[in-house]
Amino acid sequence: MKTLGLIGGMSWESSAVYYELINKKVKEALGGFHSCKSIMVTVDFAEIEKLQHQNEWEVLDRMMAHSAKQLEAAGADIVVLCTNTMHLCSHAIIDNISIPFLHIAEATGLDIKNKNLKKVGLLGTKFTMEKDFYKEYILNNFGIEVIIPSDEEREKVHNIIYQELVHGMIKNDSREIYKKIIKNLEQRGAEGVILGCTEIPLLISDSDVDIHVFDTTTIHAGKAVEWALSD
Ligand code: GLU
Repeated sequence: MKTLGLIGGMSWESSAVYYELINKKVKEALGGFHSCKSIMVTVDFAEIEKLQHQNEWEVLDRMMAHSAKQLEAAGADIVVLCTNTMHLCSHAIIDNISIPFLHIAEATGLDIKNKNLKKVGLLGTKFTMEKDFYKEYILNNFGIEVIIPSDEEREKVHNIIYQELVHGMIKNDSREIYKKIIKNLEQRGAEGVILGCTEIPLLISDSDVDIHVFDTTTIHAGKAVEWALSD
């Protein structure tokens, strides 16, 4: 088994889910006493969140590259960045390590392609929904169109992430808001919805909506384990 290098803490609520998933998946695959070989570098989300909202992406690039280098130096065989948003810094990571990087949009795009969908909605932070790095990755690499909610809806999705989900607060009212927004995406032709923020699966699951749900935390963790167990 290879050793996964996880960059966590964004937020730790979803990093804890990654940790549980990778260990459960390895145990499912190998049985017995098996668990997943991994190293996690945890950043302080207070620093990250502040810099994100100040648009200090170059500073964040350097911080993500530093965490990835720490993982490589500690013996990780691959880097897994446990957040969608911070994939904005993926080039800085890739340029600074010599081990592979498992992009979350690669894992997610493959899953959507396997279900033969042509158009999906994307929920996430405003950074993920509004900047090009995520939508274009999926369009350019998989030919899948990605649509996003309206301005007002994006504001709501973003605020629920930063004011509730990353603090571990799961509210029924917020679930209803998300369900309505997903319904609107469906009416605009989305055949599925990417839960493109690793905390959203704490709030929304398959049973809440009528279209395919792509839980990026589970998909990414699953691909990471597949990689760790491959030859
Ligand atoms: N975990 C979230 C994501 O997947 C949001 C927190 C962050 O800004 O990294 O995008």
